[in-house]
Amino acid sequence: MGKFGIAVHGGAGTILRSNMTPEKEQSYLNALKDAVQSGSDILKSGGTSVEAVLKTVTVLEDNPLFNAGKGSVFTNEGKHSMDASIMSGKDLSAGSVASVTGVRNPVILAHEVMNDPELVLISGKGAEIYAKEKGLKFEDENYFYSEFRYQQYLKALETGKARLDHSVDGSTEKKFGTVGAVALDVNGDLAAATSTGGMTNVKFGRIGDSPVIGAGTYANNKTCAVSCTGDGEYFLRTVAAYDVSALMEYRSLTLKQACDEVVNKKLLAAGGSGGLIAIDKDCNIEMIFNSEGMYRGYSENDNDVILRIYRD
Ligand code: ASP
Repeated sequence: MGKFGIAVHGGAGTILRSNMTPEKEQSYLNALKDAVQSGSDILKSGGTSVEAVLKTVTVLEDNPLFNAGKGSVFTNEGKHSMDASIMSGKDLSAGSVASVTGVRNPVILAHEVMNDPELVLISGKGAEIYAKEKGLKFEDENYFYSEFRYQQYLKALETGKARLDHSVDGSTEKKFGTVGAVALDVNGDLAAATSTGGMTNVKFGRIGDSPVIGAGTYANNKTCAVSCTGDGEYFLRTVAAYDVSALMEYRSLTLKQACDEVVNKKLLAAGGSGGLIAIDKDCNIEMIFNSEGMYRGYSENDNDVILRIYRD
């Protein structure tokens, strides 16, 4: 049996111990653990990396703690606009959806798109029609409502600014609540998936990096699988996820060196805050960020699930 492994993130940003209660911390850790475990169980029983990242991201989308699926933030119009993507490193097939509303699990829709040879990226109303045709689950506004997110939205409306998830007025707190997973299966195939509710009070149909293949998500069996979280515009400009892979392919960097180059050098120099998770074909795992923290976890083969939130 070949090596297998999975890593997940639940967003990066200003996540400080001093702002956390023990209860809140425990609920994040439990959620991350369930997500890693759900993917790891699939890999252990011989399932594919695509199946593992799809399941893991679905579990995170169903958890209101994260800014994706059920926990998505409010747009300027008081709605939810979600983006997701998934990619297989085996054949470079990929599927993405942008600006969808009401779809319970945008990553499942992205997976449908991936399996459609005629499509890679669909958006908005058209994507919702496609989801209905595929028989996907829809939910009403109540399902996506949470008092906490609504208060964030009201605050953001006052300032007139779009905010990245938990940004707090008058402070520098920033947290990106996007979720993602990367996996290697026993056959040596890599996959990555990412899902987000975007930014609070967002306008103009803004789309970040998460549904853009190469920016927020990338997988290639020759190199690695990557899922990003952070200031989407910077990840778009630096084509961050693909850049990790390209540095490995063309400059023969290790996974660690490539991730460090992208997150701690290129993104930082450009002013982009955030991080990424990545796994390579040898089952090396990186969970790297240039912000204060990143909700993250991984497991390799039959080993225990390892979970982290802060920098130390
Ligand atoms: N990258 C996402 C975006 O720009 C935000 C996040 O990671 O939370 O839409």
